[in-house]
Amino acid sequence: MKLVIVEDSELIRNQLAHLLAQQPRFSIIGTATEEGEAVNLILSTNPDAVLLDLSLAPGSGVQVLKRIREAGCGARVLILTNNTGQALRLACEELGANGFFDKTLEYETCLEKLNAWLPPLPGNEARRLEMLHGTHLLDTQEQEVFDNLTRLAAEIADVPIALISLVDADRQWFLSHTGTSLRETSRSVSFCAHAILRNEMLEVPDALADPRFQDNPLVIGATHIRFYAGVPLVLASGEALGTLCVIDDKPRQLSDTQRRALKTLASSAIAEIELRRRIIYLEQESERRRVAEAHILHLATRDPLTALPNRATFRDRLDQHVRFALRRNANLGVLFIDLDGFKPINDTLGHDVGDDALVIVAERLNACLRGSDTVARLGGDEFAVVLPDISGSAEALQVAGKIIAALEEPVLAKGHKLHLSASIGASIFPEHGRLGDQLLRHADLAMYRAKQSGGHRSCLYSKELSDRAEEMQALDNDLREGLKRDELLLHFQPQTVLGDGKLCGVEALLRWRHPHFGILPPDHFIPLAEQRGFISELTRKALDLALAQLKAWDVSGFHVPKMAVNISPSEIRADFPDMVEAALARHGLDPHRLELEITESTLTADGIETMQMLNHLRALGISISVDDFGVGYSSLAQLHRLPIDCLKIDRSFIQDLETSACDRAIVQAVITMADALGLRTVAEGIEKEEQIGILENLGCQCAQGFFVCRPAPASEAETWMRNFLAAGEAP
Ligand code: C2E
Ligand code: CA
Repeated sequence: MKLVIVEDSELIRNQLAHLLAQQPRFSIIGTATEEGEAVNLILSTNPDAVLLDLSLAPGSGVQVLKRIREAGCGARVLILTNNTGQALRLACEELGANGFFDKTLEYETCLEKLNAWLPPLPGNEARRLEMLHGTHLLDTQEQEVFDNLTRLAAEIADVPIALISLVDADRQWFLSHTGTSLRETSRSVSFCAHAILRNEMLEVPDALADPRFQDNPLVIGATHIRFYAGVPLVLASGEALGTLCVIDDKPRQLSDTQRRALKTLASSAIAEIELRRRIIYLEQESERRRVAEAHILHLATRDPLTALPNRATFRDRLDQHVRFALRRNANLGVLFIDLDGFKPINDTLGHDVGDDALVIVAERLNACLRGSDTVARLGGDEFAVVLPDISGSAEALQVAGKIIAALEEPVLAKGHKLHLSASIGASIFPEHGRLGDQLLRHADLAMYRAKQSGGHRSCLYSKELSDRAEEMQALDNDLREGLKRDELLLHFQPQTVLGDGKLCGVEALLRWRHPHFGILPPDHFIPLAEQRGFISELTRKALDLALAQLKAWDVSGFHVPKMAVNISPSEIRADFPDMVEAALARHGLDPHRLELEITESTLTADGIETMQMLNHLRALGISISVDDFGVGYSSLAQLHRLPIDCLKIDRSFIQDLETSACDRAIVQAVITMADALGLRTVAEGIEKEEQIGILENLGCQCAQGFFVCRPAPASEAETWMRNFLAAGEAP
């Protein structure tokens, strides 16, 4: 309800303003302190109600009332007075005052009087308003379909005015208005606000005879409503949004036929409104679906971590670029990027850090490339780039160099400063392939070569790489077949106690009897099996053959104290000790008879997991020796923390022992430290007699090497060992 306050006392004005400010259904649209000002304000703003003080200076409230009524203003007037004399009341009522408020009383009384002029709110008001606003009909242009309905309603009811009124929070807005140019009124004066309280038609035959409306500004003011009939427009869900109503300035009544006709027109109006709601719903639904589809498309085509295109999208784009390059007779480059040493970051610092680093890498790649280039994450730490329209391989390698340089800058991931590097392979269209798939495969092969050459570099594809890959594939197939066909066998190399004529044990060394190439040493096939992920089958085989041989020697009464078996770095898995334990049990052997050799780099590379696995193995009674000791990166000072039993001093320190004082000093240091820590020492690769003497002097415990005995099949190794022991036993 829009209010004007006419009051010359600032104190009272403020009190009223304060009181009404807390009432959401009232708003003060103006205040005046004197007569002329008040009349102008009221006539220009057309408020719903006026709070009018009678004693104004200058002027009089009675005069204000008289003048506004004469000008046709129907606003309800509440007289503010200290003088409740009957004569004055009657005079004011005569002039059209609607109520009196005694300023000496509580101000809440004033509020009660104003509230009585407001139409009550329906019980479902909040939901009703929500539905009304959801129609998106408020404040729209006139629409033919609704105007036809009100025109027909006016005609049928034979009245000057017919409306479709939508009752908003504090106004009624006319969706259609036949017979008046008015588009809205305040809700407080609205007949329709009463009509929506019920499900039936509200018919007011004579407004002046109805206590709800007789002082309504639209009744006593310019519109002069006398007759009103409104059919509520109720949605199927039960909310009445407004009415279809007819209005006359004469009192009257509708015939039954007219009533039925108005109800039918109201049904048409509500059907039309429901239809609009349905259309809006469908539009919203289709928008929601569009957004959802875009999201799904994003998920399907993008890598969720870096938001770069994923592998499938990359393949698509690559194919497009290839077709384009073919038409334009242009060159095109493909880069395959793999980060060096990324796995340990994930393993030791956690995936959060790894993920963060990958996001930064993606940003750096983007920064190195042009808008027309496509960079994608293929998965894990692999990325790929298409360079459309390049001059040739030199340019592709130049971009690769730029990427390598960009990744040299340390990466700050979750507070960790990481030094990353990348290996990059490049292939060029059409020189290295005419199909996207082929180009990517060739770039991958070239990347692999870059990695094998030490990483942190780029490499261009060449035909030899494919040839080599094919050879490897053939070998891979042969090896898998060979495993099944029992082509794998062991040679054994004895280890002897220096200066004592006794045996320490034997080392089992794997061989492959290839159907065409004959006996192959392990470096021809172990790296391959490691790369291709089936090394554990080889380890299992070697372990089984070694333990079977040890048992066979036991059974034949020939005692070999220990069997040493080599294991690959990739065996660092939680289930490995169980596999070893099961193999020992299968052959009925004491775990103390088995020694596992792991390289120094394995020991130092993979922190906690390795330590746990080694501790587990040692707890079973199996001993651990460090193979090729001295070439890795472990410092002597670190040794005491490692769960190991034996150091095998690398051949490179032994081979020049007799001539190199430096090597002697190193070997001496290793032996001294090992002794202090209670570790056994084995010198590997002894090829000369002099070396035996030096090692003995230096305090090394065991010897292994061609000079002692070459690795040989079981029977030969056995013969050698029997002879060796027999000689040692001789007086
Ligand atoms: P390794 O563990 O260092 O094994 C010793 C290698 O040195 C053997 O080569 C042996 O033949 C060779 N060797 C022994 N004494 C001398 C010597 O006096 N002079 C020279 N020049 N060489 C000597 P092999 O048998 O070719 O084995 C090569 C590597 O293959 C082994 O190095 C080991 O790392 C790996 N390997 C062998 N068998 C297995 C296995 O069953 N599993 C795994 N994972 N790796 C194995
Ligand atoms: Ca070894």
